[in-house]
Amino acid sequence: MSEAAPFDVAIVGGGPVGACLGALLARSARRARVVLLEPQVPPPPAAGAPPDTRVVAISRASERVLRVAGAWPQIAGPRVCAYEHMRVWHESASAQGPGALVFDAADVGEPNLGYILENRLLQTSLLGAFTAAGGELQPTPLGALRIGEDRVVIETARAVLEARLVVGADGAQSALRQAAGLSAEVSDYRETAIVGTVATERPHEHTAWQRFMRDGTLAFLPLFDGTSSIVWSADEAVAARLVAADAADFARELDRASDLALGATRLVGERASFGLRRLAAPRYIARRVALVGDAAHVVHPLAGQGVNLGLLDAAALAQLVAAGLAAGEDPGSLALLRAYERWRKSEVAIMAAAIDSFDRLLSHGTGPLARLAQHGLGWVNRSQELRRFFIRRALGMSGELPQAAAR
Ligand SMILES: Cc1cc2nc3c(=O)[nH]c(=O)nc-3n(C[C@H](O)[C@H](O)[C@H](O)COP(=O)(O)OP(=O)(O)OC[C@H]3O[C@@H](n4cnc5c(N)ncnc54)[C@H](O)[C@@H]3O)c2cc1C
Repeated sequence: MSEAAPFDVAIVGGGPVGACLGALLARSARRARVVLLEPQVPPPPAAGAPPDTRVVAISRASERVLRVAGAWPQIAGPRVCAYEHMRVWHESASAQGPGALVFDAADVGEPNLGYILENRLLQTSLLGAFTAAGGELQPTPLGALRIGEDRVVIETARAVLEARLVVGADGAQSALRQAAGLSAEVSDYRETAIVGTVATERPHEHTAWQRFMRDGTLAFLPLFDGTSSIVWSADEAVAARLVAADAADFARELDRASDLALGATRLVGERASFGLRRLAAPRYIARRVALVGDAAHVVHPLAGQGVNLGLLDAAALAQLVAAGLAAGEDPGSLALLRAYERWRKSEVAIMAAAIDSFDRLLSHGTGPLARLAQHGLGWVNRSQELRRFFIRRALGMSGELPQAAAR
């Protein structure tokens, strides 16, 4: 192994989670030395361009992490839509009726519940914050990995790099996870998520709308230009029909499924579809290795939590590594990595279980428990206490938060 001082941390994957971890570390008090490998750096969205097809809902807790990471000034601008209300209902009720569950930011004294923004804006703002803080971005994929006693050696097509800790932030198919010998438990939801941008007859009212149906879940997320992004998670057979439908037929199906909550819809631009799988890595760590974001866990998109969970992984790991470096400790020590795994694995497990029960009971359930849950939306709405409980969850203000995410 070479004698040059290794990086404190090497991050494989510069999606939103890896880029956020890099920015947090590079901006930490000790200014960690960080290298990040990302082979596909997209350009930022162009001013005035229509919204990208891929958008994401981020919580207020994530907003705080993004501020600490130095990315918020680039994000907060004309391409972000704050949402102030959520309206959730089951197909057995109506969007405007007493069976719908309504969350208002004002109920908890907040200006909004979170934001809808393009994945690309999130990623490029974070990569910009990372390099502005002195982080080294290498536009190349992981080649080979060797894990030694006191450092890891990473080979790419361009260089041989050494680091005290390597972090896998390279998504669900993580090459780093495989190279480090970590496994992943994967199960198929037998559902496909179809996403696209739609113009709606009525304004979105800065509201996230979500309808649970027996064969899936349909969400309308408000966008900055007045259109809405749909995320329609449908059982495979239904999804196959929807993907094959032409734009006019698709809009007709959408109007039926939305119960015209926002009036008639018109598809603007392309649809994209994603097969949905749940993924859980039984171990988030190995010697000098940690996994964050989708490399460690993939959840159903119905609650819009994937990136939010990953940003909290990044904030938790950055906090532990920064504290370790400040105390003169090894950032890849097993004690530090164990603390990270204990913290984040339990938080993710709680959220993943809650999301799966929503999917099972509200979208697909037919038994007495499912009927109870479906009617329960209206009951929750009538209890201030319960509503506040769910709003705090939506804001990302539950569980053991890293310092960057806490108020
Ligand atoms: C339909 C849909 C809707 C969603 N909506 C939401 C939402 O509203 N809110 C939310 O919080 N989440 C949402 N999610 C989940 C969210 O998209 C993911 O959780 C998030 O993208 C994970 O980020 P990540 O950085 O961990 O991984 P990714 O975004 O997958 O990024 C991984 C990065 O690693 C890079 N990479 C891959 N292989 C290598 C390699 N060998 N070497 C180096 N780099 C590599 C890739 O180029 C990529 O940039 C949704 C998901 C879907 C499918």
